[in-house]
Amino acid sequence: MNTAVTVNDVTQVYVTEQRATLAIQHMHFAIQQGEFVSLIGPSGCGKTTVLSIIAGLISPTVGTVSIAGEQVSGPSTRVGYMLQQDYLFPWRTIFDNAAIGLELQGLLTETKKQVVLHLLEEMGLLSFKDYYPAQLSGGMRQRVALVRTLATDPEILLLDEPFSALDYQTKLQLEDLVVETLRAKKKTALLVTHDISEAIAMSDRVIVLEPKPGRIRQEFIIPEEIRTALPFTAREKLGFHTLFRTIWQEFGGDPHE
Ligand code: ADP
Ligand code: MG
Repeated sequence: MNTAVTVNDVTQVYVTEQRATLAIQHMHFAIQQGEFVSLIGPSGCGKTTVLSIIAGLISPTVGTVSIAGEQVSGPSTRVGYMLQQDYLFPWRTIFDNAAIGLELQGLLTETKKQVVLHLLEEMGLLSFKDYYPAQLSGGMRQRVALVRTLATDPEILLLDEPFSALDYQTKLQLEDLVVETLRAKKKTALLVTHDISEAIAMSDRVIVLEPKPGRIRQEFIIPEEIRTALPFTAREKLGFHTLFRTIWQEFGGDPHE
């Protein structure tokens, strides 16, 4: 297997007029092509910082990040980013929102328009293509955001708590849809979440971070039986709850953080 992402001994210090914050320290891990990895840890432990560095949005204070062996020096079309908020433009239709990445890259050809329509169809959104975001539910809007992310065909998807603003039922449905879609398209994914159960259900591997500064505490390889199931059924597999309890204890830290 080839390495998709390498985070090479990265440390990030944020400096503001008031203070310097050591957000992450000596972060070191790799993600293989096609692998689905989750980073979990409490709020403020540096999860978003890691994603922003991989996305090339900030350059780390110390260390480097490589994508397919090439050092990251800025944003690239190889990486797609999906956030907790969908950031859809209210004045653009669903289709125009889904196609915006391609449009900004000047790549919105007739063929690519068909790709966007096909993705909307896969996500059950085709009949809503001429609607506006305000006419859609939160779950549907996140599906649009997923289409927008996939439309530019990135190799790596960074998912920053994309389900945390959704109700539980919608979140479970979307977890299955995301895993199914990314598996079929053989994408590499890094999910950031504070939800242990979501991380176990969706991933091949879970990296637990410890807070302040963010450092890797431990890594868990998800057993095959859980890993190969879709997230909803993965939760019913033997061993899921034992693993949940182990990671819960590892998660530890201050519950009031
Ligand atoms: P998480 O996503 O795990 O909640 P973040 O990566 O957002 O954590 O933040 C890690 C730490 O860095 C926090 O203490 C946060 O306050 C700080 N931080 C994040 N972004 C900035 C920034 N742009 N400027 C200053 N401090 C920041
Ligand atoms: Mg965050």
